[in-house]
This record gives sequence, structure tokens and C-alpha cells, in this order.
Amino acid sequence: MLGRMMDFPLTLTHLFERAERLFPGRPIVSRKADRSLARATVKDFGVRTRRLMSALEGLGVQPGTRVATLAWNHAQHLEVYFAVPLMGAIVHTLNLRLHPNEIAYIADHAEDSVVVVDASLVPLLEKFIDKVPWIRHVVVIADGTTEVKGGYLDYEKLLEGAEPRAELPQLDERAAAMLCYTSGTTGNPKGVLYTHRSTCLHAMAVCLRDSLGLASMDTAMPVVPMFHAAAWGIPYAAIATGAKLVFPGPHLDPASIVELMEGEEVTLAAGVPTIWLGILDLLDRDRKAEKAHDLSRVRTMVIGGAAAPPAMIDGFKTRHGLEVTHAWGMTEMNPLGTVARLKPDMVGQAWDTELPVRATQGFPVMFVEHRLMDESGKALPWDGKTMGELEVRGPWVASSYFADEGKDRFTETGWFKTGDVVTIDPEGYVTITDRAKDVVKSGGEWISSVALENALMSHPAVLEAAVFAAAHPKWDERPVAAIVQRPGSDVSEEELAGHIKDQFASYWLPDAYVFMDQIPRTSTGKFLKTRLRELYGDILLVTSQPPPAVKAK
Ligand code: AMP
Repeated sequence: MLGRMMDFPLTLTHLFERAERLFPGRPIVSRKADRSLARATVKDFGVRTRRLMSALEGLGVQPGTRVATLAWNHAQHLEVYFAVPLMGAIVHTLNLRLHPNEIAYIADHAEDSVVVVDASLVPLLEKFIDKVPWIRHVVVIADGTTEVKGGYLDYEKLLEGAEPRAELPQLDERAAAMLCYTSGTTGNPKGVLYTHRSTCLHAMAVCLRDSLGLASMDTAMPVVPMFHAAAWGIPYAAIATGAKLVFPGPHLDPASIVELMEGEEVTLAAGVPTIWLGILDLLDRDRKAEKAHDLSRVRTMVIGGAAAPPAMIDGFKTRHGLEVTHAWGMTEMNPLGTVARLKPDMVGQAWDTELPVRATQGFPVMFVEHRLMDESGKALPWDGKTMGELEVRGPWVASSYFADEGKDRFTETGWFKTGDVVTIDPEGYVTITDRAKDVVKSGGEWISSVALENALMSHPAVLEAAVFAAAHPKWDERPVAAIVQRPGSDVSEEELAGHIKDQFASYWLPDAYVFMDQIPRTSTGKFLKTRLRELYGDILLVTSQPPPAVKAK
């Protein structure tokens, strides 16, 4: 039919060439292993990415080949993020925090044939490389402190010896660009293939003002690792818009991050709650010690991957004037799903009214649709009270897993079952109450562990709280709270129980408190409740045991 629009392909090639032409001078800053800063521009990035394409071609990389990365966030990782998909091949980001056996499983499952690895991570690679028969080449990003061993290729030398690829191939927008695995705390991790189309549409969504609003004026710092769901699409969106990029490298301690935010005038930084809890703690301590930080350029700090406690959002705002953007997403969604933005009629209200809205997981970004379902597949009301499973669909939501595993997560009518237990309010705001596998079911009633955690974390002595299900002879399961105290604090179980008792029905309140130095976490920063259950899942059964509130001190 004549008179319609062009069928212009949505590929990373466009984002890349656009950046080269329109934003060649924009900076890309990376913190190196030795803590020094490496500075480059988009122009340098363009030439080097084109060289990398030729070099990888020389190594036999073809459309569809899986090229793995085992690396921190830095400019070279960004080069691989583009060079591989621009060739029609697939970049597969390996999670360096996993156990070597898990990485071996994933690299083998993906049939990775080239691995690009940071010099500091070669020892980790060597723990599993023998288990992955597909790997033909190892390319080492040297950090100047170590020699690249015989048998491995030196990333910089490879680039020096390669001509920048002039013509980029035309790609189908439905071609796979990136492969990411879910963290898989139960069962094996599953692969999700992002397409050029999904990645481009997602990058555009990241730039919407009602989502993260990334723009050319921004300086974006993805603290979230590039091995975790494409660093939430921020590297792609930054290149697409001409935003300055700042990469923290391997230095993720609060002081290093704050220093980079100040020194590079970061406007948007993104990471999981643990990172931000550490930063809030540092800012609080420095304020007491009258050590000033200039974070006036920070427009927002994006927090996701796990629930951002309201007390943290409040602390940033009221004590430091810093705004948090709470977002929810999944590896299966490229990963952005919802963002806690205020709607116009909510603006200008008192902070106490605004905070609970900002602490929700928000409402879906454009093109993501969501619904609330019960266990039998019946739609539940959006009343802000009824808990059910969140289902989503949209152009950057997986339609199946790599190798067609986990089919039960995809409904026949085209929805993805997130496995998150939530409420949705009449305005469409989602509140996560639990991960389905972590839900506490007491006498048949669901108790929200996240709501209890948020309430406990509003106590000044509590640094972190994780609520998990412990077996109970009468009620089947009862909530138990694991508590990490702020250094120098000493709070009792009774005081904590008193602090939250008026906020919940009495049957919601934890039956016991366990004090620990650290809450076990997954490789992507979520509370590892399976581990808490292994450690303390029986404490309510063993009545002759000493009470669980014995402090780990
Ligand atoms: P991943 O695929 O590793 O990013 O994990 C996705 C899961 O992390 C989601 O299904 C949620 O359970 C959890 N998650 C992500 N963002 C949030 C958030 N803002 N609040 C609570 N849970 C979250």
C-alpha cells in the first residue's frame, strides 16, 4: 500500500553512527584498576569500535557468534557492547560475581566462542575455561600492571593491528544483539536475547522525560554493572543521546563513587540499593564530620534491582537534597519496566505525601503494559490492596528464553509472568510485596516481607532488614526478620517490634529477630532469602534453642 511510512530498521548501527556524526566530542571517562581516570571521546570510541569489528572478524566472529565479556564498567566494555552487535554477532555479558561453576554453566550453555576479559579477572576465567569447550580465543584488556600471558590476545595490540571497519553491515532489526542470563536463584539461569529492535526502543524509553529522562546535557554514570541487564540500557541510551558517560571501573566503594560524581559532575547515576545505602551512610557520616561534598549537579539517582527503602529515599532528600528515582525492571525486559514518577496532580504536595508514591515501583513506561493476576489466571482489581502476580508485555519483554527453557513463564495470550507478587493501585502504580518464591504465607494469608523490611529500615539503628519465611508448626510459615545494625548501634528485639507494631495487623509482625553482620545477597545485590531460610528456617520449630535474637557481636 502506498503512502505509508518507511520501514526503517531499529538497529544499534543507527545509534552508533548518529553518535559519531552528532556528538564526536562528548567525553567517555573510565576509572582504571589503578584508580587513574582514562579519558576518551565518542570519536575515539567510534574509531576503536570499528577497529574492534575488523579484529573480531579476523578471529572468525560472524553473525550469530557469541562473544562473551567478563569485565567491569569501562570504555573498552562499551566498545564490545557496540562492535559485536554491529557485526550481527551477539555480545554475552558474563556476571563476574557468580561462582566459577555457574559462569561455566552459562558460558557453555551460550556456546561462547570468544571471551573479552579484564586482566584482573583472568584468574577467575581460568577457574572455568576448561569447562567451556567452545572458547577459541581469549582477548585480555590489560591494565598496564600485568603482562598478557602467552596464548591470550592483547586487546590493545589487536586494535592497533586492525583497520577501522568503514562500512557497517545492514542488519535486520529482529537480529539478536545481546545475551543476558537471569540470576537464577532457583534452578539454572536462563538466557534472554535482546534484539536490536528491543534495545533501541528501550534506549528511547530510557530517554523519555517521564522515565529516566536521559539527554545530551546529562552526565550518566552506570554504577550498575554492565554484566547486569545491559547496565539498565544506560550505555546504549547515553551513546544514542550524546550524554557524557562516566564508568566507575572496579572501584564501587562509596567514597570512590562519590568522588567521581563530584569530580565529573555526574547528573544521573544508577545502581542497586546496597550501593546507595553505603553512599547515604558515607554522606551522613561526612556531614557530621563537617566534610562537605558538592553533589549539586546530580539531577537524580536511579535505584532499582531490589526495593529502595523509603527511609533511604527520605534520607537522601531531607538530609542531602538529593532526588531518587525508584525503578523496577527485569533481565527479561531489557530491563526497564516501571518508574516511580509523580503524576501532575501529585506535584507540590507535602513530602510526607510524596514519599510513599516515590517509594512504590511506579507505573509502566510507554509501551509496557501490566496486569495483576491470581494463581488461576484471573485478573485481580487495581485497588492497592489485593496481592497477585504481576504480568507484563511490550516490545522489550522476552517472548521466550534462549533455547526455549522456562516455558511456563509465558502465557498463551502473550504475557510474561514476572514472578513478582505485587499490588497495583487505581492509578496504575505497582508496589512489590515479594518475590513469589520468597512470599511468607502464614495460615493461608500472604504477608509482605518488603513492607516489613521498609518499616524496620526506618528505625535509625537499622542499616538493613530482610524478612523471610520460617517454618511454623501451627501457621505453616511465619515471618522472621534478619537485622544488620548501623555501626555503633545497639537495638533490642522489643524496641524493633514496638517500632513497627502500629503499622501492621498483629499477625504480620515477625515472630523472631536474628541479628547478623551482613545479609547474604545474590550476585546482583538482592537479599538471598533462600540462604536465610537455610540458616534460620527452622528457628521457630526448635523451642528448646536459645532465643534467636542473640546478637552476632
Ligand atoms: P534481575 O533480572 O536480576 O534484574 O531481577 C529482576 C527482579 O528484581 C524483579 O523481578 C524483582 O523481583 C526485583 N526488582 C527489580 N527492581 C526492583 C525494585 N525497584 N523493587 C523491588 N524489587 C525489584
